[in-house]
Amino acid sequence: MAKAPVTFESIVGTEGLPQRRAIAKAITLLESTREDHRAQADELLTALLPRTGQSFRLGISGVPGVGKSTFIETLGLFLIERGHRVAVLTIDPSSSVSGGSILGDKTRMERLSVHERAYIRPSPSSGTLGGVAEKTREAMLVCEAAGYDIVIVETVGVGQSETAVSGMTDMFVLLQLPNAGDDLQAIKKGVMELADLVVINKADLDKDAATRAQAQITSALRLFGHQGHPDHASMARDAHGQVLAQWVPQVLQISALGGVGIDAFWQAVSRFRELQTANGRLALRRQKQALAWMWERIDAGLKQAFRHHPQVRELLPQMVEQVSHGKLPASTAARSLLSAARTG
Ligand code: GDP
Repeated sequence: MAKAPVTFESIVGTEGLPQRRAIAKAITLLESTREDHRAQADELLTALLPRTGQSFRLGISGVPGVGKSTFIETLGLFLIERGHRVAVLTIDPSSSVSGGSILGDKTRMERLSVHERAYIRPSPSSGTLGGVAEKTREAMLVCEAAGYDIVIVETVGVGQSETAVSGMTDMFVLLQLPNAGDDLQAIKKGVMELADLVVINKADLDKDAATRAQAQITSALRLFGHQGHPDHASMARDAHGQVLAQWVPQVLQISALGGVGIDAFWQAVSRFRELQTANGRLALRRQKQALAWMWERIDAGLKQAFRHHPQVRELLPQMVEQVSHGKLPASTAARSLLSAARTG
């Protein structure tokens, strides 16, 4: 890592375009586990925070092969043509499990990645999902401060990563293939309830199947009603008690490869943004996310401090031994360890 500190000025640059090398350096700093780097990273984030929050945060998920990178590249180029700046961040939970990466080992988004108005950052290559999600949240703030007005956070549809992405974005989009088996799987996993928009990709391959899937998913979303989605649970009202219009999750068909339906997709995203801004739900969602993030970090920090406490470290092996052999109730061991942590 270079010695020169990363500052707000260095990532914005003087030419009016975000400085991708400085941004990469800032994100590398955030991802570092060294304590002195962490202190610098916290300082940087605090300095950047007032310049964040103006961008739109779009979450995109779907199974491998559904067409995420094709879609994001097409969408990214479409947005750049309309004057936007696009950052793409990835959360790949497989890298922490297998050491390999489902998303990273092929060249993805070739045209978008070389565009000067785009910035693409692959997933941090190690850490738990919680750790990777934390780094991505912070990287998102760096990108926003640098001037990217659309930040896309992508994840592959396995495990809990969809929840993590929907928990850090303004809108969560689920990509689906035009066949029913796939839809039912997503419904079962509870991922569909998180979706603000479901997009059936590769509609060019089988128009009838895509139309059937669209109808099926539309009725499934209706079935969930406004209960499943955390943001649709209650009705927003204005000062006079009038119910404010709010977003109802929708299903669209596209062909990312052919660039068909991208316009309609972006119109839907823009409607979502307008509506949820007007009724206050976007601000509320961000507020909830920021607080949830704070508590998550507190939990993680407390746990870490606890494990590093000298008395706890001394006591822990025998407690583990006794609990695992049924000689001591787990709750008693926990209480002893907690009280050990309060001493010294
Ligand atoms: P990812 O794993 O979700 O990122 O999927 P990719 O974007 O790598 O796409 C997987 C494959 O599907 C590639 O061979 C793409 O060319 C193809 N593909 C993506 N979108 C479409 C589409 O709209 N129609 C068709 N026919 N193929 C597509």
